[in-house]
Amino acid sequence: MNQETRQCQNCKQDFTIESDDFTFYEKMKVPLPSFCPECRRQRRLVFRNERTLYRRKCSLCTKDIISMYPQDTVFPVYCHECWFSDKWDGIDFGREYDFSRPFFKQIVDLWNAVPKMNLFQRNSINCQFANLVGESKNVYLSYSVVEESENVFYSRLVDKSFTIFDSYSVTNSENCYENINTDRNYSSSFAILSRNCIDCRFVFDCVNCKNCVLSSNLRNKQYFIRNKAYNKDDYFREIGKMAFGSRILSSQYFKEFLDIKEKSLHKYADIVKASGCTGNHIANAKNAKNCFETHDVENVKNCYRDLEASEFFDVEHAGLNSEMFYEYITGGKSGFNVKFSIAAFDAVRESEYTDYCTSCSYCFGCAGLKNKEFCILNKKYSKEDYEKIVEKIKKQMDELPYTDETGKTYKYGEFFPAEISPFAYNETIAQEIFPLPKETASEAGFRWRDPEVKKYTATKTQSELPDNIAEVADSISNEIIGCLHDGKCSHSCSGAYKILPEELQFYKRMDLPVPTLCPNCRYYERLKLVDPIKLWRRQCMCDRNHPHHNGRCPNEFETPYAPDRPEIVYCEQCYNSEVA
Ligand SMILES: [Zn+2]
Ligand SMILES: [Zn+2]
Ligand SMILES: [Zn+2]
Ligand SMILES: [Zn+2]
Ligand SMILES: [Zn+2]
Repeated sequence: MNQETRQCQNCKQDFTIESDDFTFYEKMKVPLPSFCPECRRQRRLVFRNERTLYRRKCSLCTKDIISMYPQDTVFPVYCHECWFSDKWDGIDFGREYDFSRPFFKQIVDLWNAVPKMNLFQRNSINCQFANLVGESKNVYLSYSVVEESENVFYSRLVDKSFTIFDSYSVTNSENCYENINTDRNYSSSFAILSRNCIDCRFVFDCVNCKNCVLSSNLRNKQYFIRNKAYNKDDYFREIGKMAFGSRILSSQYFKEFLDIKEKSLHKYADIVKASGCTGNHIANAKNAKNCFETHDVENVKNCYRDLEASEFFDVEHAGLNSEMFYEYITGGKSGFNVKFSIAAFDAVRESEYTDYCTSCSYCFGCAGLKNKEFCILNKKYSKEDYEKIVEKIKKQMDELPYTDETGKTYKYGEFFPAEISPFAYNETIAQEIFPLPKETASEAGFRWRDPEVKKYTATKTQSELPDNIAEVADSISNEIIGCLHDGKCSHSCSGAYKILPEELQFYKRMDLPVPTLCPNCRYYERLKLVDPIKLWRRQCMCDRNHPHHNGRCPNEFETPYAPDRPEIVYCEQCYNSEVA
């Protein structure tokens, strides 16, 4: 089929349905979308609250818990143990489908009754203060940490890694601090877009390097400082003088590093071991289009943070041996053919419009079910009745669509309307990826919740701390240190913060200074260095006369670097001629 142009119901912009897309929609047996890819993503992200956490009580055992949901929610919120216990069964909330009411209104009623899990945690140990964790251990104030990671603190997007602090998008690494988009690094700090690096600090786009400092665009190098080669003895003498454990010097090196980074060559996108891909931060992939933070995938499109998956369209934060997902967000391990769903915890198959179900097959419009099949609105049917009623509901959804407060209509084939999310817009990662001021969010029909940040009172000010980590006493772990932003930023600053004993030991071992900001402020400072989830079509900036061009290189590409950004952005050919 030829491509087709449609107008997005939400932003009113035209978007294109490519000829390949039709093949996928036919395979998934879904109608064409009425929202553009970006508005579809924004709508899904409103259902993912990672870091706005509350203290509350478990609605069943009444113990104090940390939760994505505040105490005043309509629905019950259970602690992890209670939610997974046999003290309740989602099937008890089953109800008859009412063909006189829109589907999504009935979904809201169901969601308001069924208990929700306080945090998303799957097979994880000692992660009370972490959310969206799977198969991991000792995770603290970190989010989206999966695949047997261990000892992860203040980080986001971590896979198969150990002892990681203050990092963003790290895979297969160990003993790392302030790493952003890195893979297979060991004992390295302040590394961006670097791989296979050992004992490196302040490195940008370095690969297979050891003992390199304040350097960029290096391959297979050792003993480099500021991109200059040293012999071993001179190298250690020089870095010995640099005093990385000093807070004052470290912040100066960091500024220098940002300058080095900006002046370095940038490959148009971070795509490695991949063919037929567009997007950024993609590895081991085949035919991944408009995808970000995605690895080990095949035939996927409009995806963000998906791993080990195939045949995924419009999916965030899922994978791990899953296939055929469409319009889906969060969780999803060993799933097959899942559409319009949230947090299909583990092994959900052949299901649509499910929310926090696990080990379920053939479920439609269900929430909080475990080990069930052939259910609609949590009520069990025979296989024959299930199939008949689901077909009838899909027809009814088209004839009696849900209309939201802004007049957009939702028939079969649309994800859940954003306005029925249990989260306010600014509690979710939608606010990080598509930031909106309160008024604009409300006008667009998104809910808003004024943040209630707990402010701590400091027992120690910044000036009372020794400058060098070597002089910091263990007793610092008993103090509450004032954040340098002192609540005056827009980062939900908690005013003051603690340093955990294991955190202090890590800083000492790695010769890193104690941080000057609270974890929230550190997170938002780091986000400034994270690439946007968006692509621009641009021409290669190279004018160095490579074999394939005289004068300006004619190659064009899709890149996350907006045209007005200061970096030098090259196509793959030119970049490889200069860097590899
Ligand atoms: Zn749109
Ligand atoms: Zn409980
Ligand atoms: Zn702060
Ligand atoms: Zn070029
Ligand atoms: Zn060139």
